[in-house]
Amino acid sequence: MQVERRNVIVFGCCAELKDMGHKLVCLECYRVENLGSDLTNLKIGDCPECNNDMTLLNHRFRPPKKTDKKNWDLVRFLVSEGFPFQQIIQEGKSDSYVEWPKTIKEAQEFVIKYKDQRISNKQCKT
Ligand SMILES: [Zn+2]
Repeated sequence: MQVERRNVIVFGCCAELKDMGHKLVCLECYRVENLGSDLTNLKIGDCPECNNDMTLLNHRFRPPKKTDKKNWDLVRFLVSEGFPFQQIIQEGKSDSYVEWPKTIKEAQEFVIKYKDQRISNKQCKT
């Protein structure tokens, strides 16, 4: 698999790229590209519309409507805090996943409560 990842913000481990249904997202102009399951010869760069860095998010990310600025603010906040839609496990219950916050207020509590599970965009263990 060849990935050209110039100017693309990739969270977590490169190995996770093998998962299906990634989306390439511009958090500035809300452009969303579906990458599908074929990631061979994936070529990704900065946003063709506004030249900002694009962020690679997994299939759990459901893009809001372009006009839904409130929800995009929420997405941007969570991603910037290290929560790019990974699964968050409930404390003390390894098989139970936490529901994703729906408002900025919920999100602010969420990022504090689950700060141990945040992932950095530079982290890669392979
Ligand atoms: Zn853009």
